[in-house]
Amino acid sequence: MEIEQRLATFLETIPEGVQLVAVSKTKPDELILEAYTAGQRVFGENKVQDLAAKYPRLPEDIEWHFIGHLQRNKVKYIAPFVAMLHGIDSLKLLAEVNKQATKNQRTIKCLLQIHIAEEESKFGLNLSEAEDLFNTDQFSQFKNVQICGLMGMATYTSNLAQVRKEFNNLRDTFQLLKKKYFTHDQSFKEISMGMSGDYQIAIEEGSTMIRIGTSIFGNRLY
Ligand SMILES: *Cc1c(COP(=O)(O)O)cnc(C)c1O
Repeated sequence: MEIEQRLATFLETIPEGVQLVAVSKTKPDELILEAYTAGQRVFGENKVQDLAAKYPRLPEDIEWHFIGHLQRNKVKYIAPFVAMLHGIDSLKLLAEVNKQATKNQRTIKCLLQIHIAEEESKFGLNLSEAEDLFNTDQFSQFKNVQICGLMGMATYTSNLAQVRKEFNNLRDTFQLLKKKYFTHDQSFKEISMGMSGDYQIAIEEGSTMIRIGTSIFGNRLY
């Protein structure tokens, strides 16, 4: 019951209004079920193949979030059931999500990934690219995606001031886009930021969703 304890301890430390996405990537069904039995319902995976395999084996009422980089040709494998996509980083990808969601007669919640880190390797759009996306005619015609907010990953560094600055930038970007494009859309409300190493700072900077793997499930062995 180690996971149950870690989960309970963890939930005590995060304020109400901040949602916990338990990142179960690379973890076996048994451990996910342990967290499920302890009451956790929202889980995050970052590989389409793993998520598609886990979905039918685990309880129906799990809310699966896809938190990784999503390739367009793989959207179809998770579109029938995925609750939220955190890594939308192009209009083309969003168009494919809309198409597959339509095919499945459902609406898929999406977060736009914003590039906030210094590292080149992290995916995501900058502010003007996000604005370009929202300004297209094509975007205004998507009926089966719901844009719920933004997601970002800070630089992997021990410089906490920098991490704080990057999270702060994401919140600024969120507020700006909210004001300009989503003033009357209550569903644009999420800022997905914070992982095991930096979630406290993320919460202080306005996170509404933290994505936690290691602190709940322990270290990952690849
Ligand atoms: C793996 C992963 C996490 C969780 O990281 P931990 O450090 O294990 O908490 C969060 N977000 C994304 C996008 C990830 O890929």
